[in-house]
Amino acid sequence: MPKFLFVTGGVLSSLGKGIFASSLARLLKSRGVNVAQMKIDPYLNCDAGTLNPFEHGEVFVTRDGFECDLDLGNYERFLNVFAVREQNLMMGSAYKTVIEKERRGEFLGKTMQVIPHVTNEVKRRVKRAADVTKCDLLIVEIGGTVGDIESEVVLEAVRQMKFEHERGDAVFVHVALVPTVTTGEEKTKPLQHSVKALLARGISPDFLVARSAKPIGRDSKEKISLFCNVPPEYVFCSPDLGSVYELPLLLEKQGVAEAVAGKMGLKLGEPDLAEWRKLVEKMNSCKVNKRVAVIGKYASMKDTYASVFEALKHAAAKNGVCLEAVLVNSEEIEKGKVDLKAFDAFVVPGGFGSRGVEGILAAIRHARENNVPYLGLCYGMQLAVVEYARSMLGWKDANSAEINPETKHPVICILPEKESLTNLGGTLRLGAYEVAVSRGTKAHAAYGADKITKRFRHRYEVNPELVPALEKAGICFSGRDPEREIMKLMELPSHQFFLASQFHPEFDSRLEAPEPLFDALLKATLAKK
Ligand code: GLN
Repeated sequence: MPKFLFVTGGVLSSLGKGIFASSLARLLKSRGVNVAQMKIDPYLNCDAGTLNPFEHGEVFVTRDGFECDLDLGNYERFLNVFAVREQNLMMGSAYKTVIEKERRGEFLGKTMQVIPHVTNEVKRRVKRAADVTKCDLLIVEIGGTVGDIESEVVLEAVRQMKFEHERGDAVFVHVALVPTVTTGEEKTKPLQHSVKALLARGISPDFLVARSAKPIGRDSKEKISLFCNVPPEYVFCSPDLGSVYELPLLLEKQGVAEAVAGKMGLKLGEPDLAEWRKLVEKMNSCKVNKRVAVIGKYASMKDTYASVFEALKHAAAKNGVCLEAVLVNSEEIEKGKVDLKAFDAFVVPGGFGSRGVEGILAAIRHARENNVPYLGLCYGMQLAVVEYARSMLGWKDANSAEINPETKHPVICILPEKESLTNLGGTLRLGAYEVAVSRGTKAHAAYGADKITKRFRHRYEVNPELVPALEKAGICFSGRDPEREIMKLMELPSHQFFLASQFHPEFDSRLEAPEPLFDALLKATLAKK
């Protein structure tokens, strides 16, 4: 029977509950516990596919093709695993299941109620996540903040789970803010109030985590313990850190794994954190400074490109680079406000729609003409092809049909079999597929394999009819769909490093194993004088 550890949040959102949950998972895994993670998002969306990345952060894609919350990216990175769709429940999907059952008449005249019908569905999904991942311990992060209207149903469901399980088989960790006021004093009152809010919902937390700027002092810890009914040795702290990868090490020092294992009756082996520690130290003792521009259109929030920034950090740690990864707004490039010469490399991540595209094309042109390392991811490959067609084939109107459906040179288009689908629904290619990599290319050198499996989230493709002309003009398509002549990787052999993929390599990067294209990008950056 799997055990459950629920992580709730108090006072405000964006406390790093996901990073805490992942760090704890990592610690327990490194001591031999078979742990998996789940995220419950209380809002009414059914998946993250329609969420605005500008408001909500990156849409992460599981290998089985689910568009989910970016926290699943953290789970994958910290545990070095691949997540599956069952690990993210967006509450819209629970309500949908319940309502569909009602429509089919499965409840035989019953009044449909939040309790028990929706709460039962939540419990079923949580147990299902544990089943599918075959874990002994499922760490379930509950999105939002205790007290939010949407969260009530979820909290009620997991409260019931605690009640239904043996003591210690379902426990709660509450993460809440402990702010420091201008006098320098740590204030525990907001945390105390958020614990009261939890108690009012019938949940008494087993562990508390103070989220603070600096490690909290003994006094604060004792005060929290006394007022919240949690022994001081079960009160931990998660302070601001240079990098999120330091948190498992810091929690290890506080004895979090032992405390949780003690309470839950988990057997722990010796921790195996040597490699992780080495990489964190390497990150902190980097030598060469490099600036990489990530050209985005959702450029006020780095979370929009979370996996891209993490992948860059992983490659930087491996290569001993002190990386300054700068999110550049492509519309600022269009206005001539960005000095492109200030960067040692460029990354163009995924995107949709036409806003800011000319700015992205200008950055790509700059990288190509000046032999500056370039990595394109999905949209970054499509736009690299557009830029090349315009500059090198003289097709001034070359474009993606997504941006200009009227162009005479649609170098990026929707494949004919998908054209008949009139709306956007159902045309997005999602999840992991194989890619055949051609020998003797930079991509092959990076991957060292003829076949790779990578994640996709796109609708448009390089136009197969225009491929011969593009190849003749100098583009090498170094990766293809294994079954059809559809291009999945492109590079410029004449350039030091100009490589782009139709897939999203950023989702696969790990601190211990940087994704090869990011590693190759940083190596190229180092090689360039
Ligand atoms: N908008 C492009 C497409 O749909 C690229 C998508 C992306 O970058 N994820 O094909």
